[in-house]
Amino acid sequence: MELILGAEAAHLDREAQELTLSDGRRVSYDRLVLATGAEPRMPPCTVEVRRGGKLDGERSGAQMPRGVVPLRTIEDALAVRERSRTGRPVTVLGGGVLGVEAALALAETGAEVTLLHRGGTPMSREADPDAGMLLRRELTSMGVDVRAATDVREAVSDDGELVAVRTSSGSGSLPRCWWCASGSSPATPSRRTRGCRAPGA
Ligand SMILES: Cc1cc2nc3c(=O)[nH]c(=O)nc-3n(C[C@H](O)[C@H](O)[C@H](O)COP(=O)(O)OP(=O)(O)OC[C@H]3O[C@@H](n4cnc5c(N)ncnc54)[C@H](O)[C@@H]3O)c2cc1C
Repeated sequence: MELILGAEAAHLDREAQELTLSDGRRVSYDRLVLATGAEPRMPPCTVEVRRGGKLDGERSGAQMPRGVVPLRTIEDALAVRERSRTGRPVTVLGGGVLGVEAALALAETGAEVTLLHRGGTPMSREADPDAGMLLRRELTSMGVDVRAATDVREAVSDDGELVAVRTSSGSGSLPRCWWCASGSSPATPSRRTRGCRAPGA
């Protein structure tokens, strides 16, 4: 087996069964396995863009403002920890395994945490409603404010910073730092690599 480190698959020629790497090397193959991991999925909401407090438009698929952080890397975790250290409350978006873990970890540091999720109980894909209620009770006893059946509709950005979020249950006074554990999508090389496609795509 040959191990090639520090090079990205840059171009895939399926006809020639050849992969060109970012350093120009070419690797031919009989069979190719794409195991390029996942990318965090951010909530598919619109972003109301303001500049200096004045409305500048509303965009779907716009870049999320500062203050909305994906949950994927150690850098993401450190960024949220830094924000929560300054006393800013944090909303964790997503009641799956990672969202629940993140909310508990933040609560243990003494941060003010809201956990917002779509279903009736957290971890509804892994736990039945009774177990979900026990988990909800446990989270609440740890100081986590759990809000069920809630979806994000719109983020409001002012000069690139998150200033408000509108949810299916209204804008309320939800914290302005959002940690998104709202699932992931295959990190298809097609996004970065011309010619590459995820298996089955
Ligand atoms: C916060 C967090 C906690 C988790 N906790 C758990 C847990 O407790 N238990 C558990 O089972 N799972 C956990 N997971 C999930 C687990 O990390 C993933 O399921 C696992 O990493 C997937 O492995 P993978 O090999 O498919 O992808 P990855 O580990 O993401 O590896 C993908 C590899 O492909 C490389 N790559 C990507 N594109 C290219 C390219 N164009 N050219 C060359 N190389 C490329 C990347 O550099 C990387 O080396 C967690 C995930 C997160 C985010």
